[in-house]
This record gives sequence, C-alpha cells and structure tokens, in this order.
Amino acid sequence: MADAISDLRGRARDLDLDDGLAARADQFDLPRGVIYLDGNSLGPPPRGVMDRLTRVAGQEWGVDLITSWNKNGWMGFGARIGARIAALVGAAPEAIRACDSTSVNLLKVLSAALSLRPGRPIVVSERGNFPTDLYVAQRLLEELGGGYALRLIEDAETDLDGALDADVAVVMLTQTDYRSGRKLNMRRVSDAVHRAGALALWDLAHSAGAFAVNLDADGADFAVGCGYKFLNGGPGAPAFVYAAEAHRETARPILAGWLGHAAPFDFRPDYEPAPGMDRYVIGTPPVLSMAALETALEAYDGVDGRMIEAKTAGLGDFFIDCVEALVPEEAGLLLASPRDRTRRGAQVSFRHAEGYAVMQALIARGVIGDFRAPDIVRFGFSPLYLTYGAVLDAAVILAEIFTTHEWDRPEYKTRAAVT
Ligand SMILES: *Cc1c(COP(=O)(O)O)cnc(C)c1O
Repeated sequence: MADAISDLRGRARDLDLDDGLAARADQFDLPRGVIYLDGNSLGPPPRGVMDRLTRVAGQEWGVDLITSWNKNGWMGFGARIGARIAALVGAAPEAIRACDSTSVNLLKVLSAALSLRPGRPIVVSERGNFPTDLYVAQRLLEELGGGYALRLIEDAETDLDGALDADVAVVMLTQTDYRSGRKLNMRRVSDAVHRAGALALWDLAHSAGAFAVNLDADGADFAVGCGYKFLNGGPGAPAFVYAAEAHRETARPILAGWLGHAAPFDFRPDYEPAPGMDRYVIGTPPVLSMAALETALEAYDGVDGRMIEAKTAGLGDFFIDCVEALVPEEAGLLLASPRDRTRRGAQVSFRHAEGYAVMQALIARGVIGDFRAPDIVRFGFSPLYLTYGAVLDAAVILAEIFTTHEWDRPEYKTRAAVT
C-alpha cells in the first residue's frame, strides 16, 4: 500500500500543479482537518460572504432601512444573480431569475410548460428522480385532473424513446442523478423530446457550477437549479429558474404574485404577467440570503464551464483510481457511478451494505461526504476549493477505515435525522 500511495502522491502533485483553478481555493476558509466532499449538498461560504452579510444587516437594513429597496438595489437581486448564474449554465443574462426554492420553481416551470402543450396530458420522468420533482408533478397533475398523469421510466438513457408519443407534453429530468451521479446528455435528450413535439424541462440541482451546461445551445425549454449546492449560496439559498427565449412571453406559470405583475406598484386588482422572466418572481426577495448568494457567486467570476468540468471530472477520475488502488476488494465497496467522465457529474458514489456506518466513520476522521438510502456512499467534487492531494488523503482514510474495521462500531450505526 505504501508504494501505491507514493505513486498516487506523485500523480496528485502533478495534477495540482496543472490545475488552472488552484488559486480559487484562497477564496474559501474551510476548517482545518476537514476534507469537504459534500459541496454538492451544501457548499461552504466563500470568504467575502460574512462581510457582505454584516454590511447588509448592519448598514443596509439597520441604518438605510426601507430606502434600501431603491438605494441598495434590493429589488434587483433576482435579475443580477440570474445573470451571474446564466454565465455558468450557457444562458443569456436575461433568461434566468434567482427566486424561491428549487421545489417551488419546479411547480412554476412545469405548469408553464404544460400551458404551452394543451391537449397533451402526459409528463415523463424517471422513477429515480429526486422525490421533490416527482411530488410537485404528482400534485399538479392530480389537481389539473382530466387525464393528466405522470409516466415514469427507469432510465432516460435507454428508455426515453419508447416513452415518447403524441400525448407527451413535457419530459422532466434531473440531469445529474443524485444517487449515482449519472449525467444525461442534454443535447441528445432535448433532440429526442423535440422530435416528439414535447418540451424538455431540466433540474440542474447537481449541474450548475459542477460542469459545462449550455441551456440555450442544447435545446432546454425550461430549467431550475439550486443555489446552496455547488453555487455555495448558503443553507436555503434562493434557487433559479430559466425559460428559453421562445417561451418567455407565452408560457404562464400557475403561481402568480404581485412582484411578477407587469406593474407591481400600480397595485391593480387583476393579474397581468410581467414581461420576460419577471413573471416567475412571486413575492419579496429574501434579502439576506440573496446577498450571500450574490457574493458567493463571485468565486466563479471568470470561470467557464469547460474549466469547471475539466476539474470536477479530473477529481472524480482520480478518486476512483485512488479508491480502486487502495481499498481492498474484500471491503465490498462497489462503484455506483459511471466510470466514463462524460456520463458522470461532479460526484462519485459507491454502494456498500453498511454505507451509513462507513460514512459516519469517515466523518469522524474529517472526511465529509454523505449517505443516501439504501446503500449509497456519496462524494461530491466541487471545483473551486478541492485539491487532488486532498482527494488522495480522503481515499487513504477510506482504505484505513476498511483495513481497521473502524466502521464496525455501534456508534456509527445509529441514524441521525439528516443523512
Ligand atoms: C437538492 C435538490 C433539490 C432541492 O430542492 P429544495 O427545494 O431546495 O429543497 C431539488 N431537486 C434536486 C434534483 C435536488 O438534488
């Protein structure tokens, strides 16, 4: 094992020297002794965020009070942040708004997409999609009645064509599977969906900030995504919502609120949707959370999708190599993610019968990933602050947990509420 580690250490050094994003780590202040492989679930705060929060709460809220809506640009948060996120996901700056949560935004875009395909009652999705996506769709379709229904397939890579017919209005998919990390080819899926006359709706929760996404060029019709995962916007950060230009003035989301009105400060009794993406805004923006997200996104300034993808795919490949070289086969750890980096998001998962305990033992040693039922041990590879050296360190600790049977302690087997 010592020889293998020493070979891998040399490779890690070369890869770190070659890493065009290495200097970005300076913008983060992770606790000493922690290897953070859970930025896909909750990104850490970039350095500037604390100062910004202090300033917004102290000066803008505390001193400038209500004048801040104009004076400090509070009303513009959704559009400004939207433009920053747009640069990361291949969209025009005006195509995205930051607002609400991913779940709530899903309801907006799914209803908006359905409004464009009257007479087509079917929404196609994957059975393994993140539950919130399925729940939002189930309730909306149930409420619409009249034959509206969800058609679930097992695997969009193989089963999509067979599920498409003239009844399908929308194909709603999460690009990166939250368990396996499998990444769908947006171009290929959008083409198939459009050939069937349907619309493509994407959940980018594990895509934005993780690899190159080209919403406009790859034919996405609608999309939503998350602000607190790879984008590091803080716990419960606002999410984002996208509509392709062709649909922006015609689609009607089912949720409406005063800030999505064409003239919110006229306070008229009748709803008239605002032009463009503003109709997806419902109510008052959460200013403190918006401020944190806006500042956090500066860590991505000047970074393009290809640079991010080269790093996250490289980290994932290297982690797989390290684990396979160091963890003994008897440990029973099985790769659950695609080995092919073009089919994998910024996440590597393994199956293990005692996955929960394995992850607890890792966390006790400072390697933070997470566990997803029933047996997935999940590691996220955020591009801005991880080094190849740290990835090797994590694999060494994982191997030690198996060789010492450290995972097999009773205290690691009691499940906490959040896994
Ligand atoms: C994380 C995640 C969400 C989160 O939704 P919230 O409304 O922020 O709780 C939604 N969809 C997917 C696919 C996710 O991975």
